[in-house]
Amino acid sequence: MQWETVIGLEVHVQLATRSKIFSGASTAFGAEPNTQACAVDLGLPGVLPVLNEQAVAMAVQFGLAVHADIAEVSVFDRKNYFYPDLPKGYQTSQMYHPIVGPGEVEITLEDGSTKRIRIHHAHLEEDAGKSLHEDFHGMTGIDLNRAGTPLLEIVSEPDMRSAKEAAAYLKAIHSIVTYLGISDGNMAEGSMRCDVNVSVRPKGQEAFGTRAEIKNVNSFRFVERAIAFEVERQIELIEDGGTVVQETRLFDPDRDETRSMRTKEEANDYRYFPCPDLLPVVLDQAYLDHLRGQLPELPADKRERFQNELGLSAYDANVISASRDMAEFFEAVHSECGDAKQAANWVQGELSGALNRESLSIANSPISARQLGELISRVLDDTINGKAAKEVFQALWNGQGESADEVIDAKGLKQVTDTGAIEAMIDQVIADSPAQVAQYRDSEPEKRGKMIGYFVGQVMKASRGTANPQQVNGLLKEKLDALL
Ligand code: ADP
Ligand code: MG
Repeated sequence: MQWETVIGLEVHVQLATRSKIFSGASTAFGAEPNTQACAVDLGLPGVLPVLNEQAVAMAVQFGLAVHADIAEVSVFDRKNYFYPDLPKGYQTSQMYHPIVGPGEVEITLEDGSTKRIRIHHAHLEEDAGKSLHEDFHGMTGIDLNRAGTPLLEIVSEPDMRSAKEAAAYLKAIHSIVTYLGISDGNMAEGSMRCDVNVSVRPKGQEAFGTRAEIKNVNSFRFVERAIAFEVERQIELIEDGGTVVQETRLFDPDRDETRSMRTKEEANDYRYFPCPDLLPVVLDQAYLDHLRGQLPELPADKRERFQNELGLSAYDANVISASRDMAEFFEAVHSECGDAKQAANWVQGELSGALNRESLSIANSPISARQLGELISRVLDDTINGKAAKEVFQALWNGQGESADEVIDAKGLKQVTDTGAIEAMIDQVIADSPAQVAQYRDSEPEKRGKMIGYFVGQVMKASRGTANPQQVNGLLKEKLDALL
């Protein structure tokens, strides 16, 4: 039996407002526990919430970015349940009239192909506090700083068919919200987390299978691993004659498995009703037009432009446009050196490698886009060869010099292209290597091509790496063949 996987994601994005969604308390991360929750966040009697306009603007910007219908009127509802980190006894959310209606996101897979994933809707809600299980023996600590932090919950249609597609979708959402600047997207700090709904069905069957929902997965890698485990579990269960039950599960990254948390029978009845303390949100066309005018160029547009106008491959265009910081760095390098392919190679190769090794983000790169662009220019105009370029890169990275030119001068890395100078070095190497020359002469003609490597190496060494490698190759071949 062939099985097909069906996945739908509910992504919670913490919006980067400075204050809470219904109060003036700060949203800054990392403060002392319980110093940033006010009476409104705790739902104490007698207080009234006031909607943060910035949260509304951010939700609308997201909606516009995914070509969604924006609701003219949206309404906040109370979702009632008791939980220690929710002292109000209800979460203020949007159930029946969410602010963002149906939209869509284009995802790019590793082979460069694209697919559209439909968004069912996105709604505004407040986050709960945090239960801390680790630092206390036999007790649970409650930190209410997060209570009331604005969240945008983005609910997809069940349009994804593999773990890779789900990860690509999550990455696309991450790109969009960070491009818009409506979230810092920091998954390690919980600024973006998702519930993964997974089911399987026999290939060719139209009806969906019963789904399990894996709660609160907070990394791209965990999403893929949780889905891989869950798909295998469900298929095995069905093939052994069992049935999948609709339930909530948790992913345990240490054991690489999902475990049941609660089944539908024990599920809460939230008794949603419109929040009597908050007015409906009414948006007019002028407001939407104003926000539309402030949208930056979005990842999908950048990707297309990089491909169509700058000639990057689908793969390169996708990797570079995924992060706004990287895209802007690349564009600055490109405008300095004028060669998009070289700029893309250096940014993704040497630069990304060095940043990864030192766990630095591109925004904190020790080498500036301008310095890198200038370095590439010196390769393009043949001032230095590829090997010297790597040395210049390292020197600039280490702060040994302000510009590529300065490093090239200081280290004497200028490429030797003067034929006479190269010929003199070649003659010297040939004179110093009688045994290798004899071996070259005595070997089969088809093997000589390989043997020439030894001589090239010696000449490059003699030039301290500065000779032009193509010239060295050509001249060496002429001179050696003349000895035959
Ligand atoms: P609920 O109201 O119970 O939360 P929804 O219909 O709103 O359920 O769906 C929640 C999420 O689950 C959505 O992202 C949706 O795409 C996804 N989903 C729904 N049915 C399935 C299914 N059979 N398999 C996988 N995902 C599903
Ligand atoms: Mg749900």
